[in-house]
Amino acid sequence: MAKLWRLSSFGFVLFLGLALMLLPRTQGWSKEGHILTCRIAQGLLEPEAAEAVENLLPQHANGDLSSLCVWPDQIRHWYRYRWTSPLHFIDTPDDACTYDYSRDCHDPHGVKNMCVVGAIQNFTSQLLHFREGTSDRRHNMTEALLFLSHFMGDVHQPMHVGFTSDQGGNTIALRWFRHKSNLHHVWDREIVLTALKDYYEKDLDNLQEDIVGNITDGIWFDDVASWKECDDLLPCLNKYATESINIACKWAYKGVESGQTLADEYFNSRMPIVMKRIAQGGVRLAMILNKVFGESEEGFATAT
Ligand SMILES: [Zn+2]
Repeated sequence: MAKLWRLSSFGFVLFLGLALMLLPRTQGWSKEGHILTCRIAQGLLEPEAAEAVENLLPQHANGDLSSLCVWPDQIRHWYRYRWTSPLHFIDTPDDACTYDYSRDCHDPHGVKNMCVVGAIQNFTSQLLHFREGTSDRRHNMTEALLFLSHFMGDVHQPMHVGFTSDQGGNTIALRWFRHKSNLHHVWDREIVLTALKDYYEKDLDNLQEDIVGNITDGIWFDDVASWKECDDLLPCLNKYATESINIACKWAYKGVESGQTLADEYFNSRMPIVMKRIAQGGVRLAMILNKVFGESEEGFATAT
């Protein structure tokens, strides 16, 4: 940072302005959301999948998938990875409240399959071929695992399947309690952070324990089997994206306008939805990894 301070104040302001302009339009679940999704998933892996994941992780991860689940957000603006930037979300037609793979899964230039569902399909397929020994050597399997794990989080964040003109709520500026935010960020991070502060003593482990408890023995116990039901990958992914745009319309966008202040009422009614989406992301990521790497579970019906 020393160099920075030698710039004139004008230079500094310019630098700061440019840096802000270059900020990503959308981040995906916050760090916390991705960490939770990946921790929940890793806890649900069968032995074969657990071992495969551990073998694919670099040493510095110490066997902890969640420590690298935010990585795709950190590198998406690096030159080498710029192509991955449109893979974090899906833009759907304004106010349609529907998602259609052939209509919506493309990047802003119209290149097909370049969206979060296409990406999950692609990286799952790379991992399957790796397991079968038919993988293309150019593919990096560690990266495929990290992208898959991250994008399974993103596709469950309702505002990652949002409207086109407001960039999934990014351009809807508002206040979250007292500070400035935007609707996308409220769903990425604000709700999780407020929940951590109000109910979990700012401790992610406490929140994780609560979510896992509700999966194994609590409010979602009866639903988990249906969450992870999946014979054929693409229709399942399309279902997750459809769930997201439906929640985005019904719970995220509804009644919200630019300049508004969102506080207790919005927080209390939306927090359970955010927690459920994180839980579903974790359960379904585990389901995919168990099918890809597992011996006992059946794989997907159609070769991806
Ligand atoms: Zn993301």
